[in-house]
Amino acid sequence: MDHFTYRDRVLHCEDVPVPEIAEKYGTPVFVYSSATLLHHLASVQQAFASADPIVAYSIKTNGNLSICKLMAEHGSGFDVTSGGELYRALKSGGTGTKIVYAGVGKTDAEMRDGLENGVFLFNVESEEELYALGAVAQSMGKKAPVALRVNPDLPPKTHAKTDTSVKGVKFGLDIEGVLEVSAKAVGHPGLAIVGLHMHLGSPILSADPYRAGAAKAVALIKEFRKQGHDIQYLNMGGGFGIHYRKQEALPASAFAEAILPAVREVGCKLVLEPGRFIVGNAGVLVSRVLFNKDTGGKHYLIQDAAMNDLIRPTLYDSFHRVWPVAPKAGVPERPEDYEAEIPGTVKQDVVGPVCESGDFLAKGRNLPPLVRGDLLAVFSAGAYGMAMSSNYNSRLRAAEVLVTARTHRLIRRRETFRDLVACEEDC
Ligand SMILES: *Cc1c(COP(=O)(O)O)cnc(C)c1O
Repeated sequence: MDHFTYRDRVLHCEDVPVPEIAEKYGTPVFVYSSATLLHHLASVQQAFASADPIVAYSIKTNGNLSICKLMAEHGSGFDVTSGGELYRALKSGGTGTKIVYAGVGKTDAEMRDGLENGVFLFNVESEEELYALGAVAQSMGKKAPVALRVNPDLPPKTHAKTDTSVKGVKFGLDIEGVLEVSAKAVGHPGLAIVGLHMHLGSPILSADPYRAGAAKAVALIKEFRKQGHDIQYLNMGGGFGIHYRKQEALPASAFAEAILPAVREVGCKLVLEPGRFIVGNAGVLVSRVLFNKDTGGKHYLIQDAAMNDLIRPTLYDSFHRVWPVAPKAGVPERPEDYEAEIPGTVKQDVVGPVCESGDFLAKGRNLPPLVRGDLLAVFSAGAYGMAMSSNYNSRLRAAEVLVTARTHRLIRRRETFRDLVACEEDC
């Protein structure tokens, strides 16, 4: 579900025509729908309501302050993985009581920062990290609240680069050895092992891995308790899939059905760390066509957004739907299946200006012929789009605009040439 619709062959975000946004703020521009964001946050909150969960928005997905403020205002906490993300979470109105600190490589300074700000849970991923955190906490006269992150060793479930619960990845403690780790930590003055964490990977389009993971979590929590740990939290991470190709995503209720029985069985407070599910379908990347080019038997559509704006296609071979903002007569207003033959279209590679052959947003796509100046929308770009953007080729990072009903407002201005050199000028 999202609030991007075509009306009279013009893409609208909620009630705002997208060409109006492109005119006012320029391109490339990320356009977000606040109603879509809030719908998805609410759907997670409601699906899991019987467990009264802490829903901690995974800030790495899209850390824009205005989006994070919206999240905090509507009851969300935050999942942070760095000092910078903690800074954003706090600046957006987040408080430690709803902030979980994840990440496989926290520095001592980041641990201290987290403890000072009262982060309610540290997801810990190695024995060395555990004792480093314990030492930092002790030096501050505190006990660090810890969830041991376990790698449950499940079958592959998504792209190899984003699957975090198969054997051999860097994440979590091996399920075979985790009970030894927890046994040794009993009674440590700087550590309170109060939870178990799993983040299975992303995006996941089935509830089965959650069911399997939760079953393993239940068994482990019982063992942790036998060892004397007062386990209060079961943190099942994020990873819920979204619509990239068609309507393939599961509703939050499907994940809830898989996870809630485990939560009930162990009587824990549930923590969730959804990111993509909340913001992914709530954003589009809008670009403008620069040139058409035929070469090597292929048709290239060169437009002004590039891999530095949206790296997912080249990094993960990801599929994003691409369609004109104002499709002309003779083609569907919006195709049902972007991978099927579409009348009035020709196969095109959608590429940007960056000096890499890997700079593409879509390959071999059925798109109508477009001309210089036409606007293009890349859908489902709200998650891991702007967040993974860069200044490669000294390109200015795109603007971001948030739409609410008939209003739109800039939530990140387009960068300037001065911004590009700001950190270098005084050196
Ligand atoms: C990336 C990540 C998330 C969020 O994943 P989504 O697929 O965006 O929901 C949650 N928890 C951890 C530990 C992560 O690394």
